[in-house]
Amino acid sequence: MRRRVVIGNWKMHGSRESISELLATIDSSCLDPAIEIAVCPTSLHIAEVVEQLSKSSKNSRIAVGAQNVCDAESGAFTGEVSAQMLAEFGVRYVLVGHSERRELYGESDQLVAAKTAATISSGLTPVVCVGETLAQRQEGKTEFVVLRQLNAVVQQIGIEGIEKCIVAYEPVWAIGTGETASPAQAQEVHAALRNRLQQLDAALAETTPILYGGSVKASNAADLFAQPDIDGGLVGGASLKAEEFNAICASA
Ligand code: PEP
Repeated sequence: MRRRVVIGNWKMHGSRESISELLATIDSSCLDPAIEIAVCPTSLHIAEVVEQLSKSSKNSRIAVGAQNVCDAESGAFTGEVSAQMLAEFGVRYVLVGHSERRELYGESDQLVAAKTAATISSGLTPVVCVGETLAQRQEGKTEFVVLRQLNAVVQQIGIEGIEKCIVAYEPVWAIGTGETASPAQAQEVHAALRNRLQQLDAALAETTPILYGGSVKASNAADLFAQPDIDGGLVGGASLKAEEFNAICASA
């Protein structure tokens, strides 16, 4: 059975106070311990979140992820944070290739692949995000785009690297819009991604978690997660509401 994973992406939201309250209201104590759960605060909040979770009687099993990482190990890269620094502060997962980074900050497939490699080098788990825009979907290019994005990472890190990754399919048109891919639409793309992994290595296809992201909510999570190739979710807006996040984790 493949790993089940739910990751909350808090984006650039929250204050020290609101984050502390959110963590106090999230309750993962009744969930199957086999389900991996993580939250991704801003870099600035990582240390406090790691500390609060480590002291929490109900949420110490929740890991912390970063929303971004530098592709370089260290040096003159003003404003950047390295994977090694994230590891030192207790981070376990790193989102790479989120569509907001690709679109707003011009991250290319090659840069995303380099960030994935840097993440693995520091012993962290990259969550490699892929997804098509609405225009690309309407032009029938969905599969072409997500496979191109995945292939760029494969080319850089090889099969041994992909074994250490989680893949997240996030249709750009569904992120933060309230519009979710239907379970069938999502499953179709997840199957194509898994098929690509299968071509590389059968065991890889069997073990790599592929998460769905894009307006996942308590009300649609169960149907999405019931699809054969959907192994959990990458959750934005709903991960900022404890009750929603608790219910989404329970659906996994
Ligand atoms: C995301 O940012 O990764 C995301 C999926 O956001 P939302 O759930 O808000 O669509």
